[in-house]
Amino acid sequence: LVNINKQYKNGSEVTVALKDINLTIRKNELTVILGPSGSGKSTTLNILGGMDNPSSGEVIYEGERIETSSLKALTSYRKNIVGFVFQFYNLISNLTVEENVAISARLRGKQFEKEVPNYMKQVDVYKRRNNFPDQLSGGEMQRVSIARALAKKPKLLLCDEPTGALDTQTSQRVFGILKKSVDAETAVVIVTHNPLVAGIANQVIKIKDGRIEETVENSNPLEVEEIDWE
Ligand code: ATP
Ligand code: MG
Repeated sequence: LVNINKQYKNGSEVTVALKDINLTIRKNELTVILGPSGSGKSTTLNILGGMDNPSSGEVIYEGERIETSSLKALTSYRKNIVGFVFQFYNLISNLTVEENVAISARLRGKQFEKEVPNYMKQVDVYKRRNNFPDQLSGGEMQRVSIARALAKKPKLLLCDEPTGALDTQTSQRVFGILKKSVDAETAVVIVTHNPLVAGIANQVIKIKDGRIEETVENSNPLEVEEIDWE
């Protein structure tokens, strides 16, 4: 993101959400975005993922500017590059768990049978595969939304408070899965309130009042198991 500003306008009311945000997300790295409620974390993630447009500034992916005003360019970027775990899950209510997991990756037939159960098992929702979202607990919905994002094998995996509804033990497992998703092809970004998560990150970006307060590079991040989450 280069010189990103974001204002939300509701009638005559203007909320300044982001001010001059510059950041770089790299493959082979886990980036954690930390900051208090209302500081602009979700807005930053939404702009990174082409879910929202900046008021000014540029989104650059692998050296190319994403044409954020073009619906076609944004849709293609979202579809081909980005996997998103939403803060409020955004599951499709008339699809079952397994259909929700398969939908973004467009998994069908043999590929569906081969891959979808694995993603559901990774986050322990396999036994709920034929249920609909309104039959799930908040934590189960959150885990389905994680499986759906993983199933796309995205180049850029963006997770907004992916463990907000989960207990400590399940959160720890999810952080383990997300950290393992980092590879030479994949960058992972986690937005969280939990400062402990910073310990497992290669890069920590602290946001306050819509500005980047500090960016910390960590050349030797901890493994998930090395952190005392309690
Ligand atoms: P939280 O930790 O509570 O999820 P956050 O850091 O993700 O907070 P954002 O959702 O990015 O915060 O919001 C940043 C600011 O922008 C807040 O002041 C919020 O009220 C405002 N904001 C976000 N979305 C909108 C919107 N659609 N219209 C108007 N203001 C908005
Ligand atoms: Mg948020």
